[in-house]
Amino acid sequence: MQILDGTVVRADILAGLKPRIRKLSRPPGLAVVLVGHDPASEIYVRGKIKACAELGIHSEKLTPDESISTEGLLAIIDELNRRPEIDGILVQMPLPNQIDSRRVLEAVVPDKDADGFHPVNVGHLVAGRPAPRACTPAGIIEMLKYYRVPIEGRNAVVVGRSDIVGKPMAIMLLHNSATVTICHSRTANLSEECRRADILVAALGRPAFITSDFIAPGATVIDVGQTRITDRAEAERLGKAAEFDRKQFALVGDVNPVEVMHCAAAYTPVPGGVGPLTIAMLMSNTVELAEKHGC
Ligand code: NAP
Repeated sequence: MQILDGTVVRADILAGLKPRIRKLSRPPGLAVVLVGHDPASEIYVRGKIKACAELGIHSEKLTPDESISTEGLLAIIDELNRRPEIDGILVQMPLPNQIDSRRVLEAVVPDKDADGFHPVNVGHLVAGRPAPRACTPAGIIEMLKYYRVPIEGRNAVVVGRSDIVGKPMAIMLLHNSATVTICHSRTANLSEECRRADILVAALGRPAFITSDFIAPGATVIDVGQTRITDRAEAERLGKAAEFDRKQFALVGDVNPVEVMHCAAAYTPVPGGVGPLTIAMLMSNTVELAEKHGC
């Protein structure tokens, strides 16, 4: 059983970006818009700003008041769209309920869309044209390549069809010539579908849902899920008692971490698997946008 270590792949991706950043005439610029005080979002944003600092990417954190209207947020995006030193804009999700998230995401000009969520960039992805790509699935492709996991001609099963993970993941695997199946909450015989996978990507947001029944012997299992477990007995059942005792919670993926060890050939642990790649690919998208802007 091989552990696919996301921290190693992240280090490799960031090392590849450094010489590209040095060649630019000014530092790439990333603006992160964080509305409200969602604790998980604050942690994610802190990680993104820290990664920028480590790489010499200029970053700006904008924290409008939680009560801001859609129009108010659109005005902020509009200004960022116009500023030449800002190459990438990221609006941290989720936004408060009063905000029309779709309008806000679509207001970011496609060539500053650091997250690759704009419909124009989703279209480019589907058409196989270069454009910012959704960070989590793009990181997973980098990881499969880093560890030389064959994709071409293999059966890949993606569980989850969200716009940010499942759908772009399936398209990226398809572009790498996998035979792709997308599963979701209405899929009949989910475990049977999953057992056909050489590469199984679990992105459903249900902690430890994928058990040995879903995994073919020798499969590569990519665990995108990350859910905080606050029940010690549950953490212990999943072999995470020590992590729980240290942090008073345990981070659990969508794959049962005990059972996967007995059947898969390779697995991305949680934490330390897919998580580190998302920020690395955000940095990669930002550098690519800066290069495109000719800076
Ligand atoms: P999401 O928007 O909630 O989508 C979940 C998907 O899973 C949906 O398509 C849903 O199907 C499907 N699903 C839910 N329950 C299912 C079941 N019992 N059987 C089969 N399919 C089921 O979630 P997301 O944003 O894609 O995120 C998924 C997980 O990845 C979450 O745990 C999230 O925290 C994590 N995540 C991690 C990273 C990272 O950097 N590591 C990044 C993004 C997300 P329907 O469409 O039919 O409802």
